[in-house]
Formats: sequence, C-alpha cells, structure tokens
Amino acid sequence: MLGSRFDSNGCLLMSDEDKPKATKKNTAKSSTKKATSSSTITNSTKAENVKEKTTEKPKNKTKSKKKKTNSTKKKSSKKQQAAKKTLKVSNQIPKERRAKIKKSLSKAKQVKRTDWDRAAGAKQHRLANKRFKPGTIRRISMPLLDVTLGETWNTPITVLHGARPGPVVTVTGAVHGDELVGPLACSMLCQESMTGPGRPLDPNAMAGTLRIVPILNPPGYRSHSRYFPDGRDLNRQFPGSHTGNTTSRVADKIWENLIINTDYLIDLHCAAKGRTNMPQVRANLAHSDSNKIARAFGLEVILDSQGPRGTMRRNATEEGIGALTYEGGGASITDHESVKVAVYGVINVLKTFKMIPGYPSRPRFRLLASGSTWIRAEEGGLVDMFVQSGSYVEKNDVIGRIVDPQKPGLSADILSPEKGLIICCATNPFVTAGTPVGHLLPITRGIKLVKSQLDDHNRLIVSGSMEEPPWREEFEVDEISIVGEWVGDDVDSEWQRGWNQYGVDPDAVTAEEEGSEEEQ
Ligand SMILES: [Zn+2]
Repeated sequence: MLGSRFDSNGCLLMSDEDKPKATKKNTAKSSTKKATSSSTITNSTKAENVKEKTTEKPKNKTKSKKKKTNSTKKKSSKKQQAAKKTLKVSNQIPKERRAKIKKSLSKAKQVKRTDWDRAAGAKQHRLANKRFKPGTIRRISMPLLDVTLGETWNTPITVLHGARPGPVVTVTGAVHGDELVGPLACSMLCQESMTGPGRPLDPNAMAGTLRIVPILNPPGYRSHSRYFPDGRDLNRQFPGSHTGNTTSRVADKIWENLIINTDYLIDLHCAAKGRTNMPQVRANLAHSDSNKIARAFGLEVILDSQGPRGTMRRNATEEGIGALTYEGGGASITDHESVKVAVYGVINVLKTFKMIPGYPSRPRFRLLASGSTWIRAEEGGLVDMFVQSGSYVEKNDVIGRIVDPQKPGLSADILSPEKGLIICCATNPFVTAGTPVGHLLPITRGIKLVKSQLDDHNRLIVSGSMEEPPWREEFEVDEISIVGEWVGDDVDSEWQRGWNQYGVDPDAVTAEEEGSEEEQ
C-alpha cells in the first residue's frame, strides 16, 4: 500500500522545481536477469549514450595539437600561470547548446542603469504600497489574497534598502510549502547577526535592495504540504491571473508585487518528499542576467534549463529578470549544510554585484550541464541506497539494493548506467518498479577536477559547506561566579527527592520539562 502511494507521488513529483531533460530518452533501460545459480536478481543497465561522447572528443585533440606546435617554452609557462588563475569549467553541455548560449550572451545589450549610479543617491524603495527609506531595514506583511472575509494568507517580507542605489535582489522560499531549506536560509539572513551595524547585510553599507520572503505558500507551510489548499502547485501557476483559480490569484499577487519589479530572483527549493538534493543551481544559461547570477552564486554544479511552464523562474527569465533556482536538501527535513550553502550563495551574489563589501567566494571548478539521467528501480520492495546525494559513481557501480521482506533471500542490485554525480538520491526506502531512486549527472569531461574535490566517502565537497555558518556570532561571555554548595551533594539531588510528598508524578514533570525544551 505504502509502496503504491510513493509510486504515484514519484510519478507526479518526478522532479522538484524542474526536471532537466534526459540526455537521451530511455537510455538507461535496465534489463533484469535472474541468476540461476543463486537467489540474487541482478539488474544490468545499458548505457547507449555514445553519440555525445564521440562528437566532443576530436575537437579537443586538434586544439591541443595546435597549441603544442605554436608555443615556445616561455609562452607555455605563461599560459600555465594564467590557467591556474582562471576558474576551470567542465562543460557537459552539448556543442549546439553551447553555441546558442554564446550567441545569445554576445547579443545581450549592455544596458547602462543610470538609476544604479551611486552619484545620483538612493531613492525610496516601493513595495506593496509601502515606502522604504535608504539605509533602513523594515519588515512588512503582505496579504496574498485581497479579501475582506476569510483567509488573506499574509506573508512576511524583510526589506533591506541600501544607503546607496543598486540592483534589487529578491530571495524567496517555500513556494512549495514543505520545502524548509528556503525558509530556514531566509530566516538566517534576517538575523541581527547578519543585518546589524557592521554585519554582512548592514543596509547602511549596502548598495541596492535585498528583499527576503521566506514563505510564498503560507497555507502549505502550515499544513506541511507542497501544495495550496486547492491542490494546485503554486510554482506552475505563474504569472497567474487575478480572476483565475485561488492559486493563480496568489501567483498574480506575488508576480505583480514582488517579481516584475526585481532585477534578480533567487528562488530556494529542495527535493520533493522522499528524496534529497545535492546543493545545485538551475538557470537558463542562454539568458545573460540569469547566466550571471547563476555563476555568481558560487556553486560547482549549474544545470542549464528553462524550467517547466508556469514556474516563477521561467516566467521571470522570459520577463528579462536574472533568475535562478537553488536546490539543496529534501522536503520536511532539516539540512544544515544546504541551508548554509544557500546563505553563502546569496552573500556571493550580493558581493559579485557589489551590493555589499568583500570578495565573493568562487568554486574551484564549475560543472555546467544540460542533461541528466534518472535511475529507476526495476523491482519493488525496500531499497537500501549505498550512495548519497553528491556521491561520485563509476559506470556499473552498485548504487543500491532492493529487497522484499515478504520474499526473504532475494535481492536486486541497482547499477549506475554511467559515471557521474548523484545529484538527487532517494531517502524513502519504499519503491515499486519505475520509482526514481537516483538522479545522475553524467560526466564525460573534467573527471579529474571532480575527483580532486571528493571527501573520504566519495561525495563532492560543495563550496561553502565546510565554512562556519555566517549568522553565528561569537560573543565575548562575561563569567559571573555564584558561591554556594549543592544541596544533597549533587546538582539535581533535591529535585529528585520526595516527589510524593508534593503529590507530583516525577515522570510527568520530566516529560513537561523535555517538552518545553523542544519548544525553544
Ligand atoms: Zn520546490
């Protein structure tokens, strides 16, 4: 029963915010062989992705030959030095798409924004019929439905309006109500330790405007659901309509008040229930400003995709707004690493756009990709995954094993169809045939680079994940000594003694104490 429920979810929510196109449809067809000698079922997976590999290799060879013949020793050493300084890019994007990206970027007009000119001075910022003074931080609450009766679904917005003019960056979370990495990261960005005087997001030292919206789907967030109460996915309803269905009206309100007046959009997501994502960025790299913000975020893996119809990102990009989706962690779970990487990503963007002081951190390499492969279970039961999100796998590596407690002694291995990175991994063990258990980013070039940044468990160390959380502040602690002695020789001796004389059940008190601690 549970298996089939997960299966229908798996089909519906195959990808989270968007699903990058498969490198080649149905490449990873697994055939199941039943071993005759033992009771083990083995799934061997055929990878037929030869076309792409063969088209890419010859070009590199001819290039390197030319370099060798033309260069003297001095020149080559200079080249080596230059190569060390530049960020290495492992481009997995097919040749035609790369050409298209290059063409559209060269066509992009360099519009000079006179309103960002610092000599002009900052003006008031306007949002949702409210005005914000330069150099201030202000929190407002915006209703997502304009009604007098019933729920208005107010959402909190924090506006940090810089003392100097500059771009407007909007950070959003929980467009899917159960994806909590966004609300967590947004809340950390709003902490006094981040926004106070002299802190990284001090509006007095800021150029431009940062708008933080932790929860775009308040009813979904409260009910721990991805969807709106009418069962619709808010992130498929953009740009929305003020006369449409409930979710579409909310989308319209967000679109008109928050999106069309922003220069850049960072939409924070994580994998749907039952899976977890390695921190990654998704953006349409053929759109100049989206390309810029995707790189500025400072992560290793960037997936080049438009996003499905109706998503906030796709519509924003079509409107000319530089937009990215961040994916990290999983729904309804806490993921400290993904929260931290998201916060660092936003700071990197602000630094790159010179909105706040300091140099952005850059990854050691970038992996640009426009295709991926979903690895699916070919049998049903419970899966024991041997890899995690971020794991590097070789072709034919066993990435998991399916067992069925109702059929003891049998098992089916799941093999990786190609070498690459597992960018999304199942966390729910219930599977039926066809359930996606892993999302593989095949890597054909730059393998050495990737391998150089793996931890002891073969997982990619994502930029920013090893840093200290920027919102945690070290305060100097004043120590005050209180002289006395413990009654009954120990700290809790008196507490635990003689409960009955007060008519109190000691277990009940302990439970209450624990409960109140959890609340904090
Ligand atoms: Zn999402």
